Amino acid sequence: MRLLSALLLCFALPLGALPAQAQDFLARLLDKPVPGGVAVVDLGTGAQRPAARYQGRPVLVAKTDGRRWIAVVGLPLTVKPGREQLELADGRTLAFQVDGRDYQEQHITLKNTEQVNPNPANLKRIERELAVQTTAYQQFSPRQPSNLLFDKPVSGPLSSPFGLRRFFNGEERNPHSGLDFAVPAGTPVKAPAAGRVILVGDYFFNGRTVFVDHGQGLISMFCHLSQIGVKVGDELARGAVLGKVGATGRATGPHLHWNVSLNDARVDPSIFIGAFKP
Ligand SMILES: [Zn+2]
Repeated sequence: MRLLSALLLCFALPLGALPAQAQDFLARLLDKPVPGGVAVVDLGTGAQRPAARYQGRPVLVAKTDGRRWIAVVGLPLTVKPGREQLELADGRTLAFQVDGRDYQEQHITLKNTEQVNPNPANLKRIERELAVQTTAYQQFSPRQPSNLLFDKPVSGPLSSPFGLRRFFNGEERNPHSGLDFAVPAGTPVKAPAAGRVILVGDYFFNGRTVFVDHGQGLISMFCHLSQIGVKVGDELARGAVLGKVGATGRATGPHLHWNVSLNDARVDPSIFIGAFKP
């Protein structure tokens, strides 16, 4: 009966109330304060956009319900559950709570053992490639993201979730930093929000890769592409095709691997497409 009245209440909402309602819904949808998740912190009202930092890095600040400012903070997988601090430009700090989340194990067998224990030359290459990719993740452009609730970059089923503790041929390596979609090679990959192409490369682990800066430290990476259709500096509209799905780099078969990064923390992309499962 309570459910029924709640439903009736939903339908009884006047149409004029919907936009503000939707914005609040967005803030609630993004607030997943767990390692590898996102914390939404209320920064109050005010004419000026407040500036905030987490772990010394600028964070995304957006307006909600047309009035309140919120910080949308990326939490790295390495963060421990407990109290964390957001530093405001005026010297104040705001505390927020991080809860725990369990991540499953994934065991993968690779025939190419070089992709498990690379030789010294490849290790040098990997180190070099890691440095350029890290620099890309650390960019912070002032533009406001066109949409915080992302479109899916491909339409297809999700496969490996974010954060899996991965073992290649029995050896533990970095956890899964993104979300995989099981789609055939050649499937067009679309920008989930507008953005600027800031890095394009062909990397040892990630294969053919495109980085898109959506603004305010919100950055997407698309990996293992068979084809790249954009170059650094290109401005992409929401939904623009940037490449095609493939199996380049360390991949057991064609799929799209999509990373989402906020303030240089790789976070669970499922949060941004409303598919988060605690
Ligand atoms: Zn992946």
